[in-house]
Amino acid sequence: MKITLNEAAEKLKSVEKILVTAHINPDGDALGSTLAMYQALKQLGKSAQIYIDDVMPANLNFLPHIEEIKRPTENEKFDADLILVIDTAPDRIGKVENLTNAPILNIDHHITNKNFENDIYIDSNAAASCEIIFEICKELGVKITKEIATCLYTGIATDTGFFNYSNTTPKTFRIAAELVENGVEPNYISEQVERRKLEDVKIMSAALQTMEIYFGGKVAGLFIDEEVSKIAENTEGLVDLIRVIDTVDVAFVLKYKDENNIRASLRSKSANVSEIAKKLGGGGHIRAAGCTFNTNFEDAKNILLKTLGEYFA
Ligand code: 5GP
Ligand code: MN
Repeated sequence: MKITLNEAAEKLKSVEKILVTAHINPDGDALGSTLAMYQALKQLGKSAQIYIDDVMPANLNFLPHIEEIKRPTENEKFDADLILVIDTAPDRIGKVENLTNAPILNIDHHITNKNFENDIYIDSNAAASCEIIFEICKELGVKITKEIATCLYTGIATDTGFFNYSNTTPKTFRIAAELVENGVEPNYISEQVERRKLEDVKIMSAALQTMEIYFGGKVAGLFIDEEVSKIAENTEGLVDLIRVIDTVDVAFVLKYKDENNIRASLRSKSANVSEIAKKLGGGGHIRAAGCTFNTNFEDAKNILLKTLGEYFA
């Protein structure tokens, strides 16, 4: 059921032990929002623990308290009054789902989140879940420390492409300004987030070699197959390298993660890629979305291109 920001805050006040989680493949917004909420709950004297069922991206290991995030093990249980699921519906939290049967509170900014069977506060106008967590912190009377501000700013910066994407609003800048007033150093955060290993920069040239152009130049794709994926640890940002092509509306990166686990990342200038991703079992935002194919790489490529073809035919 949809609830208000105030009701979400009241729910958090009414419980003691909170399990905080976000989506697998965690990004700056997933980690920034869970880490900020974790610190806020502790400030309020609550007991909180973050669980995320994935490895942490190396370029985000500067985030305060990231080392306290746990990954659930097989058959692990966790005693909680509430699971707070941020930045996704509860269907993308991996094994965290099995840790407890506690009721779910869902907070998200994804327009494709249709999880109305749980209590959900959703604001699809928020550029990042971190914007919503900032507002909840205000509602709860939490002091925005430099550490909380750093987490929130990182999520907002990464989900807006450092205030470049169309989800950036006047409110985004107002919140960011307040976070900077609370001690955030924007240059430090951009240096950390954009930090790459030498091999990951080298891989950019190999990745660009795989580029294919479709539908009269409107679509461009990169293909990180099993072979290329062995040398490419961090493929974050590759899609932005081809999104800039003047004729391109939709840019995508197709990446081998595992056998029968192929990820697509979609970006656009005007097409609604969340609709395209949704058709493929994924979701996201109008201009940034993704999905997973439980097929081999070739089949994933064919299915994705067929669906894009329906849009651009
Ligand atoms: P990215 O390409 O950075 O992985 O994802 C872009 C956006 O789409 C993010 O907001 C992300 O949360 C969302 N997204 C990516 N993959 C999926 C998916 O499989 N399902 C849903 N619902 N959203 C996704
Ligand atoms: Mn997000």
